[in-house]
Amino acid sequence: MDALDLPRPAWMTEDLVLLEEQARRFMADEFTPNIDRWHEAGLYEREVWTKAGAAGLLCAAMPEEYGGAGGSFAHEAVINREYSLSGFDTFGAPLHSGIVAPYILHYGTEEQKKRWLPKLATGELVGAIAMTEPGTGSDLQGVRTKAEKSGNGYVLNGSKTFITNGQHANLIVVVAKTDASAGAKGTSLMVVETDDAPGFRRGRKLAKLGMDSADTSELFFEDVRLPAENLLGTEEGQGFYQLMKELPQERLIVAVHAVAMMERALALTVDYVKQRSAFGKKIIEFQNTQFELAECKTEATIAKVFLDHCIGQHIEGKLDTVTASMAKYKLTDTQGRVIDRCLQLFGGYGYMDEYPISRLYRDARVLRIYAGTNEIMKLLIARSL
Ligand SMILES: Cc1cc2nc3c(=O)[nH]c(=O)nc-3n(C[C@H](O)[C@H](O)[C@H](O)COP(=O)(O)OP(=O)(O)OC[C@H]3O[C@@H](n4cnc5c(N)ncnc54)[C@H](O)[C@@H]3O)c2cc1C
Repeated sequence: MDALDLPRPAWMTEDLVLLEEQARRFMADEFTPNIDRWHEAGLYEREVWTKAGAAGLLCAAMPEEYGGAGGSFAHEAVINREYSLSGFDTFGAPLHSGIVAPYILHYGTEEQKKRWLPKLATGELVGAIAMTEPGTGSDLQGVRTKAEKSGNGYVLNGSKTFITNGQHANLIVVVAKTDASAGAKGTSLMVVETDDAPGFRRGRKLAKLGMDSADTSELFFEDVRLPAENLLGTEEGQGFYQLMKELPQERLIVAVHAVAMMERALALTVDYVKQRSAFGKKIIEFQNTQFELAECKTEATIAKVFLDHCIGQHIEGKLDTVTASMAKYKLTDTQGRVIDRCLQLFGGYGYMDEYPISRLYRDARVLRIYAGTNEIMKLLIARSL
């Protein structure tokens, strides 16, 4: 599905082209035939994770010594684009591989890396990151979940909401206060292994505008006892620093999906307007259709060129917070406009569930909200002025 006539980016090596083909084939065989059923059920099966793991699609950027494929962010970007091109935007694997696993790789002790990363790579463990609470989202300093020292370990109390992978996750990185009086310096990341965590409870899988089969959920922690080894790293109070270091990658991942979803929307729309007729002509023959799609293609092309630039920078370790925020804000905003205009060209069929453009429209909306709202992105960009 190459709706844009761009050459491959410079970072796209031969092995990445092979990975792209392999991922595309796997998704066409294993995911595409089931996606409608999963959306209807409101959840995909747990075994989707282990299948993705066996196909080498989880933790592709993790070192081989920890069970990963030893790749770079480029591998993640290629796989994530394929999830979106195949229409499986609800799969939480980009967060699992590109957000949860890197926290453990970058800040975990050797023992923590050996304990958790190989199981994340096979899908035996499903990862989640629990920052947001009912009372606070953008303002992470307002987190009220507490991890209090008790004996050799901690006791965790609090509740989280809107957590991606909330029903399937069994390794949850929880943002908690270890010192409520120390502001940002009192925040730590606690790792909860839910298979043996009395006091941990999953709440509702939340009904949403889109992303129907994503298990976005509430989570509750009531006197959950954690051994000292479940503090990520060795030092309390590092949580905010760890979050700030990793959030640019999270934003770039969202930008990857925004562009891939535009590519898919364009391909579906061009196909449709070439088949549908009105007033004795194909819809594509109206100048309005041509101009709309010309503008959409231009916007998507500019978006992809900027995205590929950002991915190249990130692979070299040079992507800064400001540029990552620009990519997240601008590309998700552009995506919203492009998909809306594409849907219009489907007429009433664009509003019908059986046409994928309708789902794309619903699913796209959240990209402007999660991983830091676009308003928060502008705040971060404005600090560089
Ligand atoms: C489908 C889905 C999946 C999610 N997955 C996860 C997950 O896996 N883990 C997780 O921790 N969270 C997750 N979230 C939560 C998401 O990251 C938050 O919803 C988001 O950060 C916004 O927080 P909030 O909802 O509390 O909104 P608020 O922070 O209450 O914001 C409300 C409005 O005020 C604006 N605003 C806030 N502060 C400012 C400011 N300083 N200046 C200008 N405007 C401001 C916001 O931009 C927004 O428009 C998910 C959310 C959704 C919908």
